[in-house]
Amino acid sequence: MEYVSTRGTAPVLGFGDVLLAGLARDGGLYVPHAWPRLGADALQRFEALPYAEIAVEVMWPFVSDTLDLDEFGAIVADAYATFDRPEVVPLVDLGGGEWLMELFHGPTLAFKDVALQLVGRLFDHELARRGERVTIVGATSGDTGSAAIEACRDREAIEIFILHPAGRVSDVQRRQMTTVRSANVHNIAVEGTFDDCQDLVKALFADEEFRDRAHLSAVNSINWARVLAQIVYYVVGAARLTGGRGPVAYTVPTGNFGNVFAGYGAQRMGVPIAQFVIGSNRNDILTRFLADGVMEMRGVTPTLSPSMDIQISSNFERLLFELYGGDGDRVVEAMARFRAEGRFVLDADLLATLHEQWSGACLDDEETVAVIAEVRRRTGLLIDPHTAVGLGAAARCRRDPAVPMVSLATAHPAKFPDAVERATGIRPALPERLADLFERPERYETLPGDYATVRAHIDDVLASR
Ligand SMILES: *Cc1c(COP(=O)(O)O)cnc(C)c1O
Repeated sequence: MEYVSTRGTAPVLGFGDVLLAGLARDGGLYVPHAWPRLGADALQRFEALPYAEIAVEVMWPFVSDTLDLDEFGAIVADAYATFDRPEVVPLVDLGGGEWLMELFHGPTLAFKDVALQLVGRLFDHELARRGERVTIVGATSGDTGSAAIEACRDREAIEIFILHPAGRVSDVQRRQMTTVRSANVHNIAVEGTFDDCQDLVKALFADEEFRDRAHLSAVNSINWARVLAQIVYYVVGAARLTGGRGPVAYTVPTGNFGNVFAGYGAQRMGVPIAQFVIGSNRNDILTRFLADGVMEMRGVTPTLSPSMDIQISSNFERLLFELYGGDGDRVVEAMARFRAEGRFVLDADLLATLHEQWSGACLDDEETVAVIAEVRRRTGLLIDPHTAVGLGAAARCRRDPAVPMVSLATAHPAKFPDAVERATGIRPALPERLADLFERPERYETLPGDYATVRAHIDDVLASR
């Protein structure tokens, strides 16, 4: 499998290089040159197979240039053994053809574990094979950080620095990152927003001298391997619900667009997905875009679903590349306009194409709380505010009641206890293994959102290791 950049000028790479590279050298994101197709009977065969076995089969064409099949099988099995449930991503029947796919049974209680438990192991494996070390730098609005830290902690070949916006992640989220006592884990609280953190990370990658010296690498949602790992559960959902005998629809609470783009990848591989619903909170750049084709930046508003408090959805560039028929020059042009003017407009014919299968709705905090309360009344289940945004969007956008609608449940309710309590009067408890989280000591550095300061800090830490 060859991977190309969405901006068309970075070198074409194989899986191992894409895994370690993160962002492409031309500022683009790597995508597969061609999408492999699942066999005609694949979904039927997958209907009763264990998650890890399906995962190996779905991902194999994307990684086979770099790994050997037995090795890959062992890594995948090990990654998904860290989940609390044998199904890995259990499906819960909500009635009325609505299903909840619980993606939060991994070590940090959010869906990002599904990708990162695998990607951490793949990194380790590929680096050991090459005899190299890397410095992973990532920005988080909450969940990516702890999931990345859990995936990389204590691994020989990795130092990890995670930037989070000071005071803008929940206490549970912060403590899941800052109470990890591994010597290779370094947390930085940046005085600014998530987008400031993301810009700092982008600036570190753009700084060639620093990037090469520190062997920088990324595990945030622009990393292709993360998208790849997420394709699997869209396949699994369709297989378990219909065995491929009919279409399914997915509703996805969306921030950086990595999750729902993986759904698009599953569709390109042949999974019959009839509709994608995007749920946004008040930071609704994507749902505004879906309405009129105008991608326009606005400020970030803090909400009850902070992992979606973003101004720009980085992974959208991958879908744009697909819409433009793989023309990197057009992506470069659109992105340049977006950076310069804060907006760009999608051609009307492409917007019409998009509307055939994509829809979206935005929920404010009150509407989100109302969904949490309604689901509790109707089903007895507690859901987190991100999941509620996806469910609320599906209620407005669902097109065909005969097609099962799968809501991706992206976080455990105990990760956002305040919102859940406000909606239901019930404070969800953390699972046993995290029960003493608030007694553990924290360790992190608070820095201004200034490039030179952050870079100097990372240099100092690396020099001391
Ligand atoms: C990261 C995250 C999202 C958004 O996912 P994207 O891939 O960035 O669109 C939604 N919900 C939760 C709980 C998250 O952690």
